[in-house]
Amino acid sequence: MKKLLAVCMCAIMAAGLLSGCGSKGSVTGKDTLIVGTNAEFPPFEYVDDNGEPDGFDIALIKAIGEKMGKQVEVQNMEFDSLVSSIGSKIDLAIAGMTVTEEREKTVDFSDPYYTAVQYVILPNGSAIAGYDDLKGSRIGVQMGTTGDFIASEIAGSTVSRYNKGVDAVNDLLNERLDCVIIDKNPAETFVSIHSDTIQAVDGAQFGFEEESYAIAMPSGDSQLVSQVNSALKSLKEDGTYDQLVKKYIGEE
Ligand code: GLN
Repeated sequence: MKKLLAVCMCAIMAAGLLSGCGSKGSVTGKDTLIVGTNAEFPPFEYVDDNGEPDGFDIALIKAIGEKMGKQVEVQNMEFDSLVSSIGSKIDLAIAGMTVTEEREKTVDFSDPYYTAVQYVILPNGSAIAGYDDLKGSRIGVQMGTTGDFIASEIAGSTVSRYNKGVDAVNDLLNERLDCVIIDKNPAETFVSIHSDTIQAVDGAQFGFEEESYAIAMPSGDSQLVSQVNSALKSLKEDGTYDQLVKKYIGEE
């Protein structure tokens, strides 16, 4: 009986050790980082001519992986699924993702790596010029983004949510929408292709606040957060970060 009890105790202790006594091990123990993105957000992420995700964020996370001595595998998924997939399908997410209090409830963020703001894409000659003009309008957004959150709070607005920002822009071109609210750089990229008909207006004109992009990671993996932050810091110090900004975004 005593022997059986001892065997049982051993088994329980071994199970405890294997599961790390309830706390998950750090992602830093892995050779490959599985990185989630949504490659519909140029110039930060898009699908290149070979069908592979590319863009500023992709190059940045590969450089971070290199500094950490890890392979990086990119998984393209819907933006709205990224946060909930961290810690299960993916190890971390880089997707022009704004740090928000709501997201911070479930994930930890790296130090911010880029400052952005929501822009308003309007047809040329639109009468919309300030926040009050957005009230009661038909607004297109990318689902689950800060643009979506802002649009949803505008009184009387009808918000159409798309998986791809470019689809919202197409509906604006087709006159199904009055405007699209989306981050500055994708707004400028989308408008540059159709500048004869639409324009990208700085969200500051509408009272929208600045946002910070950061890399999202599993909550509580402080080892991963500090390794990512020190990689980011050294990429800023050695000039790699500036080179990537120049290559993909084209501004300082
Ligand atoms: N910055 C916005 C957000 O975090 C949009 C990001 C995106 O569409 N990739 O919600």
